[in-house]
Amino acid sequence: MIEVPRMKWQPPPAAGSAGLPSWDEYLRCVHCGLCLNSCPTYRLWGMEADSPRGRIRQMMLVNQGELPLGDSFVTHIDRCLDCRACETVCPSGVEYGKLVEAGRAQIERNYSRSLGAWLARSLVYRHLLPHPGRIALAARLVRLYQRSGLQWLARATGALRLLGLARRERLLPRIDDHFFFSQLGKMFPARGPRRARVALFAGCVAQVTFARLNEATIRVLTANGCEVVVPEGQLCCGALAAHAGVRDVAEELAQRNLDVFLRDDFDAVITNAAGCGSTLKEYTHLFPAENDGPESQHREHRDTEVTEKAHRFAAKMRDVTEFLAELGLAAPLRELKLRVTYQDSCHLLHGQKVREAPRKLIRAVPGVELVELPFSDQCCGSAGVYNVTQTETALELLAGKMQHAQSTGAQAIVTANPGCLLQLRAGAEIHHTGQEVLHVVELLDRAIS
Ligand code: SF4
Ligand code: SF4
Repeated sequence: MIEVPRMKWQPPPAAGSAGLPSWDEYLRCVHCGLCLNSCPTYRLWGMEADSPRGRIRQMMLVNQGELPLGDSFVTHIDRCLDCRACETVCPSGVEYGKLVEAGRAQIERNYSRSLGAWLARSLVYRHLLPHPGRIALAARLVRLYQRSGLQWLARATGALRLLGLARRERLLPRIDDHFFFSQLGKMFPARGPRRARVALFAGCVAQVTFARLNEATIRVLTANGCEVVVPEGQLCCGALAAHAGVRDVAEELAQRNLDVFLRDDFDAVITNAAGCGSTLKEYTHLFPAENDGPESQHREHRDTEVTEKAHRFAAKMRDVTEFLAELGLAAPLRELKLRVTYQDSCHLLHGQKVREAPRKLIRAVPGVELVELPFSDQCCGSAGVYNVTQTETALELLAGKMQHAQSTGAQAIVTANPGCLLQLRAGAEIHHTGQEVLHVVELLDRAIS
């Protein structure tokens, strides 16, 4: 029998110590409320406790020992999408993502979840995502389920409904026929004169569910004069672990990736996943420098070398749309007669502040008409594993998103993050919109090939 550690609640350490942001960072929130209407959970429920301002207040009270780190606090923090829409509109410069991830790390350290939740979190964050071999094995099992007729049977007999899994199962990604792991260690030469030499960050689950997207990314980059290297030894970026508060795992993965990507000299490190890109650019948050304020004081062995590496790496990190827009498209593009709309990925728009680059690339394709999507800056409900942990809310947000997407009359919804692709593809199926869902890179690949 597995023994689950149960701990008594104790007031957590005050802000500015034990890995928490400094008081100044919390105090930047002046309670103006300008973020409330941008917050998807506040818009859904209208509750202060589920707003950015309310959550910051709760984090501060917990840090002061005036609010127990108990069920209520955990519920409101768990319900946050970590979409960071509140950061974009905040006039005071509150770095909400940093605060909520620190809050989640506190929860991970000081709160006992139910046995089921503890097991699931431990399995996913500690025993699956950091291990490519286990991801491949799990993917093969899911593929067997999807291709053998078991999935059809489970859906047709209502077995999934009986188990309460029917809605979650619809969000399950389709496993690829071949995995991207086989491309690790390879180099793809530039077509025509070489304009840049880049490394591709291939992702973790993306290697078994988005192998074709990674291949399309390589085709588009090489067609535009980039030599692409896919470094061997790279691991999951740690974004899911960092967002869930499992910080020790995120730090280990980051250290490994820093070593792998800084082994060679690249003009840029490229990702096609906005969620990963945001964390990769913020490895500096995981390894704050000595002079980064009280946040850094907890590190027993402050490692200036890893901090310096994180800064060097962050300077090279680029989302593929950002990189191509900066470089300029050189490959000839054929005409595509398509009316499309664009859904901003939260971690591209709010996390990385990249808004124009994907739109510029979409408009560059002859024949493509881009229609703006109402509320494109609002989360689709994907948010990492949010659609699995908070399925009802994720589906509610998705329903609104699909309604807006349909109102544009677009034949295709374009976005810039694999998680959003999965969610929007599920949305198109559930709501029978008949819309195709594409990554910006897939649109370009279609126009190039
Ligand atoms: S907009 Fe910024 S300062 Fe204003 S309440 Fe929201 S987080 Fe606080
Ligand atoms: S991260 Fe998103 S869901 Fe969380 S408080 Fe900010 S706007 Fe709301």
